[in-house]
Amino acid sequence: MENSNLDNPECCRRSFGASLKDTAARLLADPTIAPRYIHNERMEICKGCDRFDANKQTCDLCGCYMPVKTAMANMRCPQDLWTEYRK
Ligand code: SF4
Repeated sequence: MENSNLDNPECCRRSFGASLKDTAARLLADPTIAPRYIHNERMEICKGCDRFDANKQTCDLCGCYMPVKTAMANMRCPQDLWTEYRK
């Protein structure tokens, strides 16, 4: 069974399954909601990214629904365009 590695964004680039598992592990490790300005900043980055599907509001690299993923403090862009939020 493949292990999630919260410090290794390569995990998200391998496959949709690995990305989903990484996202779930990150959520379990820290379910904190990011401040609104962080959420907004991340969404603006995603909207300018060529991997963002504006119709579905998803990232075609990690497969995640970005309005939710960007709201969670412990999430990370698989291309390191934005990273985890720490107080
Ligand atoms: S999570 Fe990263 S790769 Fe995916 S759409 Fe957002 S900025 Fe692009």
